[in-house]
Amino acid sequence: MKSHYRVVVIGGGIVGASVLYHLARRGWSEVALVERAELTAGSTWHAAAGFHALNDDPNIAALQAYTIGLYRDIEAESGQSVGLHMPGGYSIATSPARWEWLKGACAVYQTLGIGARLATPKEIVAQCPIVDPAGLLGGMFDPHEGAVDPHGATHAFAIAARRRGADVILRNRVTALTQLPDGQWRVDTELGPITAEHVVNAAGLWARRVGRMAGVDLPITPMQHHYLVTEDLPALLARDGEMPCVTDLEGFTYLQQERHGVLLGVYERNPRHWKTEGAEWDYGMELLPEDIDRILPELLIGFERFPCLKQAGIRKWVNGAFTFTPDGNPLVGPVPGLRNFWAACGCMSGFSQGGAIGLVLANWLVEGDPGADIFGMDVARYGAFASNDRYLRETTAQFYARRFVIAYPNEELPAGRPLKTTPAYDAQQAAGARFGVVWGTESPQYFAAGEPAFVEEPSLRRSNAERFVQAEVQATRAAAGLLDTGVYARYEVRGPGAEAWLDHLLASALPPVGRLRLAPMLAPTGKLMGDLTVSRLSAERFWLIGSYYLQQWHLRWFHDHQPRSGVTIENLSESWLGCSLSGPRARDILAGLADADLGSGALPFLGCGAFDIGPLRAQIARISLTGELGYEITVPAAQQRVLWNLLIAAGAPMGLRPIGMRAQDSLRLEKGYGIWSREFAPSYSAAMAGLDRFIDFTKGDFIGRGAALAQREAGPDQRLVLLEIDATGADARPMEPVFADGQRVGFVTSGGYGHHVGLSLALAYVERALADAPVPFTVPVLGEPRPARLLPQAPYDPPGLRMRA
Ligand SMILES: Cc1cc2nc3c(=O)[nH]c(=O)nc-3n(C[C@H](O)[C@H](O)[C@H](O)COP(=O)(O)OP(=O)(O)OC[C@H]3O[C@@H](n4cnc5c(N)ncnc54)[C@H](O)[C@@H]3O)c2cc1C
Repeated sequence: MKSHYRVVVIGGGIVGASVLYHLARRGWSEVALVERAELTAGSTWHAAAGFHALNDDPNIAALQAYTIGLYRDIEAESGQSVGLHMPGGYSIATSPARWEWLKGACAVYQTLGIGARLATPKEIVAQCPIVDPAGLLGGMFDPHEGAVDPHGATHAFAIAARRRGADVILRNRVTALTQLPDGQWRVDTELGPITAEHVVNAAGLWARRVGRMAGVDLPITPMQHHYLVTEDLPALLARDGEMPCVTDLEGFTYLQQERHGVLLGVYERNPRHWKTEGAEWDYGMELLPEDIDRILPELLIGFERFPCLKQAGIRKWVNGAFTFTPDGNPLVGPVPGLRNFWAACGCMSGFSQGGAIGLVLANWLVEGDPGADIFGMDVARYGAFASNDRYLRETTAQFYARRFVIAYPNEELPAGRPLKTTPAYDAQQAAGARFGVVWGTESPQYFAAGEPAFVEEPSLRRSNAERFVQAEVQATRAAAGLLDTGVYARYEVRGPGAEAWLDHLLASALPPVGRLRLAPMLAPTGKLMGDLTVSRLSAERFWLIGSYYLQQWHLRWFHDHQPRSGVTIENLSESWLGCSLSGPRARDILAGLADADLGSGALPFLGCGAFDIGPLRAQIARISLTGELGYEITVPAAQQRVLWNLLIAAGAPMGLRPIGMRAQDSLRLEKGYGIWSREFAPSYSAAMAGLDRFIDFTKGDFIGRGAALAQREAGPDQRLVLLEIDATGADARPMEPVFADGQRVGFVTSGGYGHHVGLSLALAYVERALADAPVPFTVPVLGEPRPARLLPQAPYDPPGLRMRA
């Protein structure tokens, strides 16, 4: 062990070993892994070690495919067998809803190039003769499903890393972490102190404790998980070759062949946590006592689906613990608020994701960029609220129990709610609001006006709540809609250096005082880092508005690029709230309340300023996402309820309705407007997304300028377009493929029904040539091919006259 390393990785499970390997592969020397006991001594040694490429988040699915592809390479490089078995696997459907869901999911995986395909019951039973076909409607075959030997895979990473010069230091617990004034870390270990430029927390079951050593409380908690392994089964002894894996989604079980028997794992609906704070330091390679009564309901379903298990001898039971985060995805990347402290933990699927976590973390450390859109596993996707014990228990239990349950796009799950509400919450509830949750905050999705007993059915199709959404859309187009903007993020940037700094940070020109602009923010690679609006309140005072759930992510980026002096950044997201009033009557509604005439003279389109609204002093910006004359009105949080009530009272006689996020989504699709995480994301360049028109290439240097210029000159391979789809009853969903002439030529980013224009609409990235010279397209909606056409312009008010009114 040396006294100084560039990087110390804490933890020698599958994740830490992969991080070490990828750092060494990137050519970084002076990197070490410090392990408390032996390699694999946490969750890793007793994992079933199954893997698959399937994930609801397409970016993570692509990274899982990378992990799987790495196993053969790492075996060859290290000379250590990883015990790879990849017979593929079937996810089976035994209900019509699941079958429909699988057909849609299969189309999405085709977009990702994962090569999944649908399979008939006959095929499934022929390939997996131990499956009882009763009620089986079909399945999806993923050729990339299989399992490895967890010991072999972890050691293969470690051996290969060592050969490339990395150190692996075993039986040496990290006992304390102290940040030094120069940003390096003093890492105290049982064998003595180390100075490290960077520390990576890959401590698995202990990651919450290790985080606390550095002063951060990570939202991770261990939970118990069972599987059993049978003795040899006659049906498998009689077979040549390995049986594919089977996941019975309705049955809560997964099964993989193990020698001539099987391993059956259970995601029970009544899960149990274990050591919420993380394992004790002296916890050895021990199993937890089996809790068979608790998992019996799901086991019995498994024994019906695989009847031969009723007679099988059980060779071993495993009940072990591994960590979960509220959404089940890992925590990866630079921990916001700390310098040089990185997360690579919270990973419940180490054998599908471990390789990828190593890759992105090494990219990030070496190049300052993860190399892919990994927001779905970024440690910055959570705020401090998520580390509350009860919140963590409720959300992780919800995730675990629903691991195999269909996630409907219109379903709002109950765990950890309500946690944060805006002051207008009670008034909205009284008006029939049905809430969703954005980063812990309750946000109206729609208002079931006048129908307090209304219950929305979870559905992959247009739901029974669409009539409320339609009414809100029509009210906004005809009169006005009022939307709570409590789930927008707001930052104030001020000081003598604010202008120069923002000019470098943002790709757009900065607006003059009293005006605002759409401001793409780019990474040095030219990829998108933000779709902010910037308002200039005075010469040295600016507001940036963005998506609420990106706060930690934005702030980490701002602070990484913040000059030492002359600029103050203040997060106003919780202290200033407001609402967005839009529609042709919006100005009339404000006329009775505002101290000034808010006509185009005082407040033109893209103007901003401070105005009195009734008794309130508000910041008002003339902008809307609905395509109507719109005002975003923001007040100190304590005044938002009064603002809401004033606007409702003044607007209702003119036809104003409170509206929710679903109406806004329909309205913005009618205008072809993109939003973050759908059309705009770090996977896309400004040129692809059409945001390059907001870039000012004539100003001085800004982050990403060179790359964005080159991308604009070369022209993007794909471009964002608006499609009209011949779909009834259901609309396209993100990542569904777009075909032309039988070839996959793009993918959907958002789909929905335009209630005013009466069209099923989708925004999609398609090959550039087809964006310029469109052809007939086909989009599979819920797996059913539907004709689609490119719309050369937005179907609603293409010149934007209403917004500028
Ligand atoms: C029963 C069961 C079945 C599973 N099945 C699957 C499956 O089929 N597929 C799948 O992908 N995943 C499965 N998993 C989950 C999988 O085991 C985990 O995702 C994975 O092992 C996590 O690896 P890790 O490296 O993050 O953490 P861990 O394996 O917990 O490793 C963390 C390491 O850090 C070390 N450490 C902690 N603190 C310190 C310190 N202070 N100083 C030094 N070292 C420290 C520990 O000793 C440990 O070795 C299963 C888990 C269980 C329990």
